[in-house]
Amino acid sequence: MSTPKMMPKTMFQKIWDRHVVLERDDGQILLYVDRHLCHDGSRQGMSKLKAAGHKVRKPAQTYATPDHYRPTNAKTIDDFQDDQMRGIVEELAENAEIFGFHHFGLDSDKQGIVHVVGPEQGITLPGLLMCCGDSHTATHGALGAFAFGIGASEVAHVLATQTIWQRKPKAMRVSVEGTLGFGVSGKDVVLAIIGQIGTAGATGHAVEYAGSVMRDMDMEGRLTVCNMTIEAGGRTGMVAPDEKTFAYCEGREFAPKGDRWDHAVADWRTLPSDEDAVFDTDVTVDGNAIAPMITWGTSPENVVPVTGVVPDPADEPDLNRRKIHEGALTYMGLTPGMRMTDLSVDKVFIGSCTNGRIEDLRAAAAVAKDRRAVVSTLVVAGSVPVKRQAEAEGLDKIFTAAGMEWGEPSCSMCVGMNGDIIQPGQRSASTSNRNFMGRQGEGGRTHLVGPAMAAAAAVTGTFADVRDLMAKK
Ligand code: SF4
Repeated sequence: MSTPKMMPKTMFQKIWDRHVVLERDDGQILLYVDRHLCHDGSRQGMSKLKAAGHKVRKPAQTYATPDHYRPTNAKTIDDFQDDQMRGIVEELAENAEIFGFHHFGLDSDKQGIVHVVGPEQGITLPGLLMCCGDSHTATHGALGAFAFGIGASEVAHVLATQTIWQRKPKAMRVSVEGTLGFGVSGKDVVLAIIGQIGTAGATGHAVEYAGSVMRDMDMEGRLTVCNMTIEAGGRTGMVAPDEKTFAYCEGREFAPKGDRWDHAVADWRTLPSDEDAVFDTDVTVDGNAIAPMITWGTSPENVVPVTGVVPDPADEPDLNRRKIHEGALTYMGLTPGMRMTDLSVDKVFIGSCTNGRIEDLRAAAAVAKDRRAVVSTLVVAGSVPVKRQAEAEGLDKIFTAAGMEWGEPSCSMCVGMNGDIIQPGQRSASTSNRNFMGRQGEGGRTHLVGPAMAAAAAVTGTFADVRDLMAKK
C-alpha cells in the first residue's frame, strides 16, 4: 500500500499546527503559548489578573524584565528621580514575587529590553510560540519562533491560561535575493522592504524572510529585520533556523542541554518550509540594490537611500496618500527635493530592541573610533550582557572618547517613557523602529537609520553616507 503524500507546509504552518488546542466555529483558534515575555509595561495585564483573582498558570514559562521605564542614568532603583517610574519598576518585582515568574530586575545580570533578553538567554528558541505585550515581539522570529505582540487583556489571558485566541494569519514570503553591498545592514534591508511593500504590505500575514541575503545575514541582522515586521503590518516575522541559529542558541542559559539539545536540534531541522510549500503572498526584494536607508517622514515606509532626496507629494497619484505626505513634510520641516545629506541633526540615539545588540554597537563604534561627536549622542546597550560585552571590547571607551553618552540598558529614546526625549522641532537620527509623530517627544522629528549611519550623523552633524566615512578608515 502506498503512503499518502503529505501536503507541503510553510514553517509558519508547521509551528501553528503544533500549538492548536481547539478551534471555534467563528474561526478563532486557541493556541498554546510556550513562553510569555513580560516587561514593566505589562502591569495592566497583571492588574487584570489580580482583579480576577487568578494565579499565573505557568510561572516557569513566564519571564519579565523592566525596560521601558529604566532611566538611562539609573544603575539601581535608588537612582530613580521619578517616583512614578520607580513605582512601575518596583511593581513588576512585586508581581514576580507574588506570582513566582522569572524576573530579571535591575540588579540582575540578565536585565535588558525584553526582545534582546529573550534570544540572549535562550528563552527564545526555534519552533516555539511566544507572546509579549509589546508590538515588536516578532523580533524573536529571527530564531524560527512564531512570536507576536498582544494587548493588555490578552496578557491577562495568557498569564491565567498559558493560551491565546487567534485568527490564523495568511502566509507571506519576502525573499531578499542577491548580496548586500559595503556598509549596508539588516536595518537597511528591513527599511527597504517596508519602503517597497508599504506599512500595510504584510497586513494579516505571518511573514517568512528568505533568500540569499537572509541566509547570509548574521543573527543580529535577522533580529533587526524581524523586529520591524509590525511596521509593515505583519502579525509576525520569521527566518528558517539554520546552523547559524543553532550555534547562536547553544549553551545559552535557558536553552536545552546534553541529549535534550541534540533532540531539539534534530526537531528544529524539520521546521523550515517545505520546498514546494505555497505562500498566500510572495514578494521578492533586490538585495543588490539596497543602499544605507533613511526615513524622511512620519511612517517607516517614508524611506529613501541616503543618496536620495525628499520626495515631492505631487508625484503621489493617490490623493489621500498625497495629503498624508504633505502633512508629514510639514511636521518634519522638510521641502521636496532637499538632499538627505543636507539635513542637520540635533540628537543621535543608538540603541533599542531594533539595534541595541553587540553587532550594532560594534558597527557604530567602528565609525565613531578616533572621531568626535558634534551633536548630543546617546548610546544605550540593549541589555546588561550587551553592555558588559561592549565594555570588555572597549566600545564604551570609543563612544565616551567621542563625547557620546553611555547609558544603562533600557528602551530609552526609542519611546521616551524613561524621560529620554527630544524637544519640539529637534531632529534625531535614531536606530529605533518608529518615526511616528511625537514618538520621541512632542514635536520631535525622528529619522530612522542603522547604527553605523547614526554614528555617521553624530560625527558629521548631518545625515551622511556612512560608506564614505568607512572608506576613509
Ligand atoms: S525598545 Fe522600543 S520598540 Fe523595543 S520594546 Fe522598547 S519601546 Fe518597544
